[in-house]
Amino acid sequence: ACDAGGAADTRIMVYVRARPLSKKEKEAGSRSCVRIVNKRDVYLTEFALETDYLRLKRVRGRHFAFDASFPDSTSQQEVYNTSTAQLVEGVLQGRNGSVFCYGATGAGKTHTMLGTLQSPGVMVLALKDLFAKIKQRSKDGDHVVRLSYLEVYNETVRDLLSPGRPLVLREDSKQGIVAAGLTQYQAYSADEVIHLLQRGNLNRTTEPTRVNETSSRSHAILQVVAEYKLQQETGVTVRVGKLSLIDLAGSERALATDQRTLRSVEGASINRSLLALSSCINALCEGKKHIPFRNSKLTQLLKDSLGGSCRTAMIANISLSDASFGETQNTLHWADRAKEI
Ligand code: ADP
Ligand code: MG
Repeated sequence: ACDAGGAADTRIMVYVRARPLSKKEKEAGSRSCVRIVNKRDVYLTEFALETDYLRLKRVRGRHFAFDASFPDSTSQQEVYNTSTAQLVEGVLQGRNGSVFCYGATGAGKTHTMLGTLQSPGVMVLALKDLFAKIKQRSKDGDHVVRLSYLEVYNETVRDLLSPGRPLVLREDSKQGIVAAGLTQYQAYSADEVIHLLQRGNLNRTTEPTRVNETSSRSHAILQVVAEYKLQQETGVTVRVGKLSLIDLAGSERALATDQRTLRSVEGASINRSLLALSSCINALCEGKKHIPFRNSKLTQLLKDSLGGSCRTAMIANISLSDASFGETQNTLHWADRAKEI
């Protein structure tokens, strides 16, 4: 993890999660080209791994190591516990944080972030945990939880809880950058939230050319604000923390031009927000004073949740299948940079 922002505990934690081979991939004869060892090390080979252990040892391939690496057998709860639980605790103490899922379309980002009703992901588990923690503490002071769920698609911001016209971002002297008119849903339990988020996800923009595929170019952002108020004779204590959970657009199209400057890709069918996020993370890791938040809608929205005293976790999603070798390699390199720069 790189040390972004100076303070010893403002690190970007980088994780990798592999998804299992799908039935379709197995039927097509795909095999795994990724091996995860010790919950940390990732080996990538250009050729499918032999199931024979002796041969497997010989073809070790390129090695990567992350703060944690999750093999395909890892449960949603374990991914949450390792990557996000600490950030939820921080939010109750008034610290902002953000968790991203990065990777190619089909690599498991939405599964990790949102999941299904049977197997809820990080967004839902974070809210569950948040409400459980609040319940434990409710004796002292009042907690209010508000959430908003929005998408950035082609540099247009939309409310996923109440779809309609695009939202305008504006600078508010007290709250920073806000999407004008965005729904702030006051939530009382995790259960009601699961359905709300599933419905919201259906509102994500789908690409006209890919009717059955969801939203490979849209970023979905869940922002959870926990406000704590304690009234005492000596005065009022108020603590506000915000957690941003982001299901990023598919990285496949941005990667080909990842190294170029933003300017040279303007107008191309490149995801400006994804590139701008990479630039901001690089700038934070390099300890630069100027972080280029203004370059995209996504980074404007996350201005108060990246860097400084904020905590950030990056989950890079990969497929094990040798058919996705190129995308997996790109994602691992990207995650490696996020970690090391
Ligand atoms: P993305 O959002 O990155 O495009 P999805 O989350 O939609 O990818 O995942 C693609 C497919 O793989 C979905 O059918 C999803 O249910 C399945 N999948 C992804 N990750 C896992 C996992 N860890 N375990 C089981 N199935 C998964
Ligand atoms: Mg998705």
